[in-house]
Amino acid sequence: MTKRHTCLALIAGTLSSSILLTSCMGNPPSKTGTGGASGSSPQTAVNSQAASQLETGTVNLGFVPILEAAPLVVGVEKGFFSKHGLDVKLSKQASWAAARDNVVLGSAGGGIDGGQWQLPMPQMISEGAITNGKKVPMVVLAMLMSQGNGIAAANSVKDGNLSYDLKKTSNGFFKTFSQKEGRKFRAAYTFPKANQDIWIRYWLAAGGVNPNKDVELLTVPAPETLQGMKNGTMEAFSTGDPWPSRIAKDNVGYLAATTAQIWKVHPEEYLAVRSDWVNKHPKAAVALLKGLIEAQMWLDKAENKDEAAKILSSRKWYNVPVSVLQESLKGQYRIGANGTRETNPKLGPLYWNSDRGVISYPYKSLTLWFLIESLRWKFYPGTVDSIQQAEAINNRVVRDDLWLKAAKELGLPAKDIPTSPSRGKEVFFDGTIYDPSNPQAYLSSLKIKS
Ligand code: CA
Repeated sequence: MTKRHTCLALIAGTLSSSILLTSCMGNPPSKTGTGGASGSSPQTAVNSQAASQLETGTVNLGFVPILEAAPLVVGVEKGFFSKHGLDVKLSKQASWAAARDNVVLGSAGGGIDGGQWQLPMPQMISEGAITNGKKVPMVVLAMLMSQGNGIAAANSVKDGNLSYDLKKTSNGFFKTFSQKEGRKFRAAYTFPKANQDIWIRYWLAAGGVNPNKDVELLTVPAPETLQGMKNGTMEAFSTGDPWPSRIAKDNVGYLAATTAQIWKVHPEEYLAVRSDWVNKHPKAAVALLKGLIEAQMWLDKAENKDEAAKILSSRKWYNVPVSVLQESLKGQYRIGANGTRETNPKLGPLYWNSDRGVISYPYKSLTLWFLIESLRWKFYPGTVDSIQQAEAINNRVVRDDLWLKAAKELGLPAKDIPTSPSRGKEVFFDGTIYDPSNPQAYLSSLKIKS
């Protein structure tokens, strides 16, 4: 058995797999079991006066080294959390499965209190749908980032000319591929039945390709995607930058589509924390949000992108070349099989503001969409079988009151404080409309579903 196979067997065999996982992934094993790299407020001491107002001085959060985690890392490194009295301890998670297992443990059990999540992971952890029935109630507190994700394709499928609009550029390609290769096209995501799986399914189905029948879908953790594509493990994958951009920069493959091309200012990953932690420490939860909001504002400023890239690139955090991070943070892409250079910060990662308003606020209309897509693909039978169930779960798990309190305490201008939990109608590149007040109309309009 190779080391990798041993590791995969261990992952499959244990819920508390994080310690094993971190050593499998080449990171030093951690005594706490929450991951390899970790850190807290190195530049500024915690503001003791602010800390004295809080119920606790610390929170343990997990992160995955993709652009979505940047507000958490910057919040620690630039002292935004410590300014509000909170020592945020971040620990790198080797995979999304490890993050899930660690939040089930909780920090009392050597795990984490919460952190960065693909959706609907916090909702499904709350319902016990992805934790062997163990319900660990969680609260979604804020959106971390919009856009900044992509679908990368291998050089071996350059002839497919894969783009965001497959009907236009690649009609019939997937069927031809199966006939020629004697197997299906393989597309990877980083965790099943959440964001990256949902993006790749939306992209394929909009192009007339049935993700259940015409391709093979598999799971590969984000930091393993580069090597996986080099090895020919898959022809395409969907994940957060800098990984899709790095594929293009290293000439291992090309960026077929950015998620911004599929849906402008789409919801991406979220900050969510265990309910027991939030209920016990409501003031600390607001302090956490205040630090996060300030980190998101800082990250969105053009003049801070180079410094952000330098912080994230370090071995302690992402261990990725600074130039790759500079480009992806600034929305500088090489798009398509011919690598056309495009620079448009509006299509890059957005942390604070956008043409559709504030990113950070957890719009319930947006978090609901992931549950509606879960219905579309029948991801969670027995848990999400109807729109009413999806809405009830969404209302239980997503809380915007703490975000609004944090925004007011920070003195944000009224234009940056949403007055409705709905962002209104959303339009996709293929003309599909998602009206959160009528999810059934959206579901009915989709031709390919489970
Ligand atoms: Ca993502």
